Amino acid sequence: MDNKSSDKKKGRLPVIVYYIIILAVVFLLWFWLVPRASRPTYKEIPYSEFLAMVEKGEVAKAEISNAYITIEPKNLDSKKPVYYRTGMLQVNDDNIVKLLLEHEVEFGSPIVKTGIWTDIIYLVLMLGGSWLVLFIVFRIISKRMNSGVLSIGKSTSKIYGEKSTGKTFDDVAGQDEAKMQLTEIVDFLENPGKYTQIGARLPKGALLVGPPGTGKTLLAKAVAGEAKVPFFSLSGSEFVEMFVGVGASRVRDLFKQAVEHAPCIVFIDEIDAIGKTRDTVLGGNDEREQTLNQLLAEMDGFDSSKGVVILAATNRPEVLDKALLRPGRFDRRVIVDLPDLEGRKAILKVHARGVKMDENIDFDAIALATAGASGADLENIINESALRAVRAKKDKVSQKELTEAVEVVIAGEEKKSTVLSERERKVVAYHEIGHALVSALLTHTEPVSKITIIPRTSGALGYTMQTPKEEKHLLGKQEALDEITVLAGGRASEEISFGEITTGASNDIEKATQLARAMVTRYGMSDLLGFVSVESNRSLYLGDSGTTDCSDETAREIDAEIRSITSECYKKALALLESNREVLDSLAAVLIERENISGKEFADLLKERGIDLEPPKTKD
Ligand code: ADP
Ligand code: MG
Ligand code: ZN
Repeated sequence: MDNKSSDKKKGRLPVIVYYIIILAVVFLLWFWLVPRASRPTYKEIPYSEFLAMVEKGEVAKAEISNAYITIEPKNLDSKKPVYYRTGMLQVNDDNIVKLLLEHEVEFGSPIVKTGIWTDIIYLVLMLGGSWLVLFIVFRIISKRMNSGVLSIGKSTSKIYGEKSTGKTFDDVAGQDEAKMQLTEIVDFLENPGKYTQIGARLPKGALLVGPPGTGKTLLAKAVAGEAKVPFFSLSGSEFVEMFVGVGASRVRDLFKQAVEHAPCIVFIDEIDAIGKTRDTVLGGNDEREQTLNQLLAEMDGFDSSKGVVILAATNRPEVLDKALLRPGRFDRRVIVDLPDLEGRKAILKVHARGVKMDENIDFDAIALATAGASGADLENIINESALRAVRAKKDKVSQKELTEAVEVVIAGEEKKSTVLSERERKVVAYHEIGHALVSALLTHTEPVSKITIIPRTSGALGYTMQTPKEEKHLLGKQEALDEITVLAGGRASEEISFGEITTGASNDIEKATQLARAMVTRYGMSDLLGFVSVESNRSLYLGDSGTTDCSDETAREIDAEIRSITSECYKKALALLESNREVLDSLAAVLIERENISGKEFADLLKERGIDLEPPKTKD
């Protein structure tokens, strides 16, 4: 899938020939030229030793030059000659000639003659070497320029194709509907003839939409893997460049390469980067529009019977240009949503395959505790649990590590370095017990599964975790109100116990306000607006806040209504805790002592104090 194969098609010499020539030259140098040119070795000796050698009569010849004297000993090994050399300048010895004559040392003639071969070889090596260095430097520079601003439009080498992705549908857990929709594409890629025979127009592309981390990229790769076809992928942001026209030429290149390798899959990740609605407002992005136009043109232009299928992924389908979505382009839309309980369990199991786990791991419990987690989150949890097992010097991951990993992913690592003062610890303990106790005293709440006052790296000084007994898809009005009351429980407990309030409740307040606002503006759960929605989601999958669309007066009323809901709930939390003051105090004392209370312990502690936890509530 690289450029080499396409070079071959253009009639140039195959690369292998160059390699052979280079190898031949290297062999020639090594085995024929180099031995001929071997230079003798010289051993440096002090001047005094040279004089001693002369005195002893060990010297056969001496060659005196300006800088040094070269000495040939009498017992010279002709196969591996070792000559001696000594400095000359430091010692101005006038007697040297006399001494040499005295000991019948031959001098004045050159001792070692470097042959012509040596010179040639050194010349060749020098020239060749510098040429090679230049060549390499040039290559590096031209590569740099290719990826930089200087290579306008020359981007062929950037396009990324792989022969096989190594992923199959087995690697994608859950997402059964998505897989089912995509099997048709797999089938088409495997035997396009079946479809063309009947005259069915083949799907050109499918758009995978869903929140981040749900496995869109993974699914696209799995389709290529299942159909055993090459996979060309490019991320939307890679199309968009500084210069107008670059993105468009990338699109052209991408499709050209893909058609050469058909059947194959072209995958455009994060397509919203180029596929945003074209608007002609001032300051519109010319480059992006051109790129998008080119993409549209290419999608229309190529013949899908060749077997090129375009997959694209986005988590912002609502911003995509209508032209992209019309039939004949991305005519399939595959929803890849957050996994449900079963899906989460399956994903956990898929990723647990590669990790040594205890046999009796309860994946149900983990899946229950991770409502709203994406596939990527779950993969992260499994990996985190494995890391924890290593840290604990275990050879297997047990339930304990998994539960801890869930906490870490949800709330951050424990941060033992944060030292709370005695009073702060007390405040945090009362705050958390406030949440937990209110939750226990209300009926429409989820059971508490853990209370802790160990600070976390996320900044939380403690938290109360609630885990649903079963997967929930609807939120009842009473449940929403109870949730706000539980959120208010922390602050209420602080106020009752200390008579003053802290910043510790800011996150609770934010969440409560959001929920109350949604009840009024979206869910139609308030008497103020009734069955009316004044807020719309801007993004389906990214969870940003919506845009409110109503008159100023209504907006004021909405604010008042939100305030009344949250303050009602706060009052309720205060009342509940006040009437259970002793329980609150004694539970807070337990929490301060133990730092952690598990769900089971909490239920037992409540029972001892005469509060029986309600059986799971009925659905609203
Ligand atoms: P997206 O493209 O939707 O943002 P990815 O496909 O990149 O998400 O998924 C990120 C990672 O999460 C994958 O590499 C995979 O390990 C894991 N993952 C997500 N969904 C699933 C799933 N359904 N089954 C198995 N693993 C999943
Ligand atoms: Mg992705
Ligand atoms: Zn709180």
